[in-house]
Amino acid sequence: MAQTGHVMDYQNLLDRIHSAVEPVVNAGNNGKVASYIPELAKVNPLQFGMAIVTLDGQTFKVGEADTPFSIQSISKLFALCLAMHGEGESVWQRVGREPSGSPFNSLVQLEKENGKPRNPFINAGALVVTDMLASRHVSPETALVQFCRKLAANDTLDFDAKVARSERRTADRNAAMAHFIKSFGNLHNSVDEVLDSYCKHCAIEMSCVDLARAVSFLANRGTVPWSGEQLLDVSTAKRLSALMLTCGTYDAAGDFAFRVGLPAKSGVGGGIVAIIPGVAGVCVWSPALEETGNSYAGSIALEMLTTLSGQSIF
Ligand code: GLN
Repeated sequence: MAQTGHVMDYQNLLDRIHSAVEPVVNAGNNGKVASYIPELAKVNPLQFGMAIVTLDGQTFKVGEADTPFSIQSISKLFALCLAMHGEGESVWQRVGREPSGSPFNSLVQLEKENGKPRNPFINAGALVVTDMLASRHVSPETALVQFCRKLAANDTLDFDAKVARSERRTADRNAAMAHFIKSFGNLHNSVDEVLDSYCKHCAIEMSCVDLARAVSFLANRGTVPWSGEQLLDVSTAKRLSALMLTCGTYDAAGDFAFRVGLPAKSGVGGGIVAIIPGVAGVCVWSPALEETGNSYAGSIALEMLTTLSGQSIF
């Protein structure tokens, strides 16, 4: 039966979820690790961790919740928050806010839509957001790492240079996208500069605990729960949550809303962050992905979380 946030036994819920997904993870044939970035292909797929950080400051965790992993597209959420901070509403002149209905690295809509990416959570959109950061910060990757450190209250986190180089060397598709966007005048810095920075953003490493803590301000109407610092105004925080729901899990966002019912953002490193508005930040990680690029076991775990707790936005 559904319980309220205050009496919810999250540790018990996480333990139940862990026992249920362990066989799925250990079977080793449910999903595949991302291999188009050579360094990511080396990650052991048989790992699972999950963390919940409640707005009253409690941390619940299970499995490999303290193991840092490559956040990949989850960085698109933090990059957008940082860009909103600097640019405000003008972000939307250069990037849309509609689901793409296409894979995260698709080029097809860009031509018809004159180089304005559908949303900031697909690669094309994140390249434009990275360009905005590059116009404002001497080193956009340093700015983003510092922002993530602040959000996660962890001064040691950083990007993995090896993963960044590995992606950069094989970034032909993202390079094609960036050049195409630039041909429409929607990229102001050099393609190389934007790609270098984008690959470093994606290579930031954080654990489930770091990430659950880092997104908790979005569950708290834009205010960091433990410091009281307002990073985004209430309306912007609400809008970012809406974008996470409609665009955060790429082409599977509809199915994700159907199965999980929480604003979420995934990455091909196997992490998925989610927020339970007014209650908690959540992160799950398991590297093997389903076809759309979302963590196979992670999606099951989040579905179980909302089913068992009765806590979703619907
Ligand atoms: N760095 C990855 C890429 O650009 C991020 C994709 C993802 O996590 N969906 O392809």
